[in-house]
Amino acid sequence: MAKTVFEKIIDRELPSKILFEDEKCIVIEDIAPKAPVHVLVIPKKPIKMLSKATADDQELLGHLMMIAKQISEKLNVQDAFNIVINNGAEAGQTVFHLHIHLLAGRDFSDLFPT
Ligand code: 5GP
Repeated sequence: MAKTVFEKIIDRELPSKILFEDEKCIVIEDIAPKAPVHVLVIPKKPIKMLSKATADDQELLGHLMMIAKQISEKLNVQDAFNIVINNGAEAGQTVFHLHIHLLAGRDFSDLFPT
């Protein structure tokens, strides 16, 4: 299987702006930001998409969310951010390696009107 762009970034075969890294994940700035703050929390394990995760991934998925929370604090957006996971091409997923979008500084409330 050919590596995804995120595997290449994790393996340092492609450059990226890395904000955080540990043994389980990497956090990078999105190359085409859709908000003033737009970072991606990416597991090192190449899970194709959330719907392909298994019970074995439960701890990893929780870890990714906690890292997103920590990064929101580091970027000082902890009081107002959005988390997005696109699952599948029809839902807008373009890179088939699970990732969490952390977005801040833009009002997305029109997408979810109350
Ligand atoms: P998706 O559409 O799969 O949910 O999100 C993929 C995201 O990855 C997009 O927001 C896109 O801008 C970002 N992206 C694609 N290629 C690269 C890259 O080479 N470097 C970085 N930093 N982000 C990328």
